[in-house]
Amino acid sequence: MAPQRENSPLTQNDLGTAFGALIGSDHVLTDPDSRGRYAHDRLPYANFRAREGALVGTLPDVVVRPGSTEDVVAIVRKAAADDRPLIPYGRGSGVLGGIIPLGHEIMVDLRRMNRILDLDRENNLVTVEAGMNGEDFEAALNEAGYTSGHLPQSLTISTVGGWAACRGGGQESSRFGKIENIVVGLEAVMPDGNILTVRPLPKRASGPSILDLIVGNEGTLAIITRLTMRIWKLPEAETVIVLALPDRGAALSLARRIMQAGLHPRIVRIYDEKETRGRVEGIAAFAARPVMANIVLCGEPGIVAAEADLVRGFAAELDAVETETAPFDDWRAHRYTSITKQWLDKGYYNDTIEVTVNWSRVASLYDTIAARIAAVAPDAHFSAHWSHVYPEGVCQYMTIRLPPMEQDKALPLHAELWEIATGETLRHGGSIAHHHGSGLFRAPWMDAEHGEGMAVLRKIKAALDPQNLFNPGKLGFAPRPGSIDPYRDRAPDADQNG
Ligand SMILES: Cc1cc2nc3c(=O)[nH]c(=O)nc-3n(C[C@H](O)[C@H](O)[C@H](O)COP(=O)(O)OP(=O)(O)OC[C@H]3O[C@@H](n4cnc5c(N)ncnc54)[C@H](O)[C@@H]3O)c2cc1C
Repeated sequence: MAPQRENSPLTQNDLGTAFGALIGSDHVLTDPDSRGRYAHDRLPYANFRAREGALVGTLPDVVVRPGSTEDVVAIVRKAAADDRPLIPYGRGSGVLGGIIPLGHEIMVDLRRMNRILDLDRENNLVTVEAGMNGEDFEAALNEAGYTSGHLPQSLTISTVGGWAACRGGGQESSRFGKIENIVVGLEAVMPDGNILTVRPLPKRASGPSILDLIVGNEGTLAIITRLTMRIWKLPEAETVIVLALPDRGAALSLARRIMQAGLHPRIVRIYDEKETRGRVEGIAAFAARPVMANIVLCGEPGIVAAEADLVRGFAAELDAVETETAPFDDWRAHRYTSITKQWLDKGYYNDTIEVTVNWSRVASLYDTIAARIAAVAPDAHFSAHWSHVYPEGVCQYMTIRLPPMEQDKALPLHAELWEIATGETLRHGGSIAHHHGSGLFRAPWMDAEHGEGMAVLRKIKAALDPQNLFNPGKLGFAPRPGSIDPYRDRAPDADQNG
């Protein structure tokens, strides 16, 4: 795609020379084609705009590829001296526009920092550089007999640093936790160029958690250079249970009961009627029971057998029927592939929205969003599944899809569907984001999400990054003066509180 906006070529030459002197000219990219590859991530809205050759933001002024923490420090100090903003880049798999440049940023591509530095078998810890690809990381751990437990659908196209920066969640989060439960230590470069280290200890009571300030910062407060993460031995035994249930309420009750009883399922996946239908063709049990739950238990054989007995007992009380495991086997075979591109290629407007809500509100949240979307866009697809479950609540992962139509009709409608899903989540006491992060696209809802907490975050940002150098304009923080307004195309009546 041809770049829509371009910065001065003189600037690129100067930057290339300056950063080449710091980290080697082979590791600095200044030509428009290379910079164009860093102009957007997988934000669906950006993909829609790309159909008409438009960018949501702009190109970075320069791309730098550090090979060490010392390189990152040198880059940050130079950027601070020149008052130029930076964006840390993992692999650009984010879906909220977190790496989209808004004006004159230096893109810091961390992929050369891709080594496992230490595997500590006594303490079950691994220390890894932030730019390591997820698939390579998990393969290396598997070879040593371990798993990280963090297996996002984007495993093959993301980095470990990106996982921590976005506060991500893997498909096995119900057992191993989200990334914030897996990362126990880290190293990061701060906006003043100082190196922050959090030692990998089990628990502490020495004031607020610095670790939690950095995990989830999306490049706005710190550039993560190393992570120390929990690892687990590959499980000895596994049992897969696929159930047909009479309705969504029964399936969600089953998940709640499993988690509140203290079981540790590897996977819990519950699909609404629409998503079930697409996965169970030819299986008779689903004719009368249209909602599917997949429960996978793993670990020591004795514990797995006991947990499987309990799950089957809970399921029987909810009038569930156990069926063949083919739907789960099929999901597992394709667990790291996405169908989004197929819809995009056919001209549809496909997007996903993952939110968090307590068990007491989940049924109402689903019904309300489904009804409101049907009212404003009768042709729109709306469906959901629930695959990250906790004792107190659940992530509702929703797919919205508009059929092919003129872009000037589709984009305001797409914005309205987001507004409905996000506004209703807030009205139901939920959180606007479970694991994709907030980036650019969710920035308008950050005040409603956090209330006074957002004022606290803004004060922290101002104190740590007084020049507003790190990923400006993301996470609800202010952009730099003269930045591109990414929302210039949004529906004018979009109301941030729904
Ligand atoms: C098909 C598909 C499926 C997905 N499935 C999942 C899923 O199952 N679970 C899930 O959690 N997410 C999922 N995602 C979202 C995305 O993959 C994650 O958010 C991922 O963690 C981003 O990693 P990345 O390395 O590509 O980061 P990028 O996209 O490169 O960056 C994301 C944000 O993190 C910042 N950042 C990146 N690296 C660093 C660093 N080292 N230090 C500081 N900030 C940094 C960037 O500045 C940006 O703001 C999916 C995305 C796609 C396209």
